[in-house]
Amino acid sequence: MNGNTATPADVPPVAPVADRLRITEIFHSVQGEADAIGWPTVFVRLTGCPLRCVWCDTEYSFHGGQWHDIDTIVAHVASFVAKHVCVTGGEPLAQKRCLALLRKLCDAGHEVSLETSGALDVSGVDPRVRKVMDLKAPDSGESARNLWSNLDHLLPHDQVKFVIASRGDFEWARDVVREHALDQRVMPLFSPVWSKVQPRELAEWILAERLPVRFQLQLHKLLWNDAAGH
Ligand code: SF4
Repeated sequence: MNGNTATPADVPPVAPVADRLRITEIFHSVQGEADAIGWPTVFVRLTGCPLRCVWCDTEYSFHGGQWHDIDTIVAHVASFVAKHVCVTGGEPLAQKRCLALLRKLCDAGHEVSLETSGALDVSGVDPRVRKVMDLKAPDSGESARNLWSNLDHLLPHDQVKFVIASRGDFEWARDVVREHALDQRVMPLFSPVWSKVQPRELAEWILAERLPVRFQLQLHKLLWNDAAGH
């Protein structure tokens, strides 16, 4: 045997490819919506989304971003010394390793929420994570993408969010809440599309219908007018 020929025992094991995620931004702000509204929160915005909601306000997250190791992300999050962490996008579940990030953030002791479109399977999400799951109303242009089986994987601490752009959207969301008894299973959230529905109008529709849902306005838009990094 040629002395220079390496045997399998000589070959160093190939280093495992690091668990990485493509990240658009990580920043510290005030949670603007859902049940953790108002808490100082670290936001981890993952890059990419397979949907194209017509009123999307985070189109800048569709492309670009940078790859980071999951452990580096968790360490970066820890540097802000905040209890609450929100993993968002884009659609964070479009990157499969998002599930590992969620688990590690929980293991690190954070209160973790996940903002997801409702179009991708949530069954693998760590049960410690509070899911804030959209159901896309017709005016989003993406309601055909709603993955209805996701409703079977929701826990009592989860929230289902409806973003309402018209009276038609409201009536659709109202019927979904009633048909699936969402108010008895999770926290249903209704919020207006900025500039499409007057907030007061939506609040009055909810009251007139005696609908057991929680009205919300996005606090970060009131505070920072949706500037990047907030
Ligand atoms: S799912 Fe969210 S990020 Fe994706 S297009 Fe719709 S609003 Fe934008």
